[in-house]
Amino acid sequence: MEITAKSEIKLIELLYSLGIPAEAVLIEIGGKLVPETATAKKGHKINIIFYKHVPPSSSPSEPRGHWARAKPKSTCDKCKSKPVIYLPYAKVHLCKKHFSELFEKRIKRTIREYKMLKKGDKVGLGLSGGKDSYALLYTLSKVRESLPFELVALTIDEGIPGYRDAAIENAEKRCRELGISQHVYSFSEEYGKTISQIAKAGKENLCSYCGVLRRKLLNSKSRELGLTKLAIGHNLDDVAQTAMLNLIRNEPMRFARFNDPVENERFVPRIRPLRDIREKEVAAYAYLHGHKYDSGCCCPHATGALRWSVRHELNSLEDQYPGTKSKIATSFNTLQEIVKKEVSADNSNLKCCKECGEPASEEICMSCKMLSDL
Ligand SMILES: [Zn+2]
Ligand SMILES: [Zn+2]
Repeated sequence: MEITAKSEIKLIELLYSLGIPAEAVLIEIGGKLVPETATAKKGHKINIIFYKHVPPSSSPSEPRGHWARAKPKSTCDKCKSKPVIYLPYAKVHLCKKHFSELFEKRIKRTIREYKMLKKGDKVGLGLSGGKDSYALLYTLSKVRESLPFELVALTIDEGIPGYRDAAIENAEKRCRELGISQHVYSFSEEYGKTISQIAKAGKENLCSYCGVLRRKLLNSKSRELGLTKLAIGHNLDDVAQTAMLNLIRNEPMRFARFNDPVENERFVPRIRPLRDIREKEVAAYAYLHGHKYDSGCCCPHATGALRWSVRHELNSLEDQYPGTKSKIATSFNTLQEIVKKEVSADNSNLKCCKECGEPASEEICMSCKMLSDL
């Protein structure tokens, strides 16, 4: 979304007048990332980048809470360079170098805290070509410099014409540059159907079909490749949204496992190194390290209205009360530990699907059910 400033305007005021939470976008002026505390001069071209989808329209308002008090700054808080981002919960402006350093330091801390990796691990990365997996690819290849482990990328082609092609091409290019080998698997080869064909069959909740089928493929292929971990690009927003959705849908047991079986030898354990980082920062990091955003970045089949509403509400809350997402995710973690113990105790998740042999919570796994349903 490009806007030419008719007069001098504070970016945060512009966003609020359009009903857009600062949490949902990145802003570029003259091809450079700028913090929302900056001011656009008359005639400046302001590019508002929606890094996931255009949020539901809401009514214009005034900057609230923290953003109303945020002061503009022309230099980074750690050096004399121009800032590219403002972190409202920490009240700091940072340049590309210092923001990237902080980002990478946090990922290393998360990996350490949750004991995600150990020496000699063979890690598969679910690389969609989107900003999250791109940021993960980039940081993991850096983490590898200090903690040696093997890293390969797994890309799933769901078969969505015009949507995945560019992303897959981009992903291939990046892997080559970073010297990481990449495996591409497609729905049409593995399941005999693309997601677009499933869409034509008139399936509602297509996103859950797509998600279930993709997860199964990532798991079985990781196991075939002898991988010990599968890294997923879930960020703090995903974690907070999932926690809220579990509450709203009354599915408390899902707290325990993000849909993952707790213990099953056929299940390749997943790690989420971005889980403590807000989506906006992941988007900014990916942007600063060469990820391109285009308006066609969203899946044309995407539905999930409830998740979108939750996402929008959480963004508004975060704007007003910085730290909200992080607090939700932390209480989710606490509950997760408690529920996990209960679930392990009754061993209810140690089954394998009778059809395909993949880990399942019932006799027949969800993806086999879905495929037979088509
Ligand atoms: Zn700096
Ligand atoms: Zn199955």
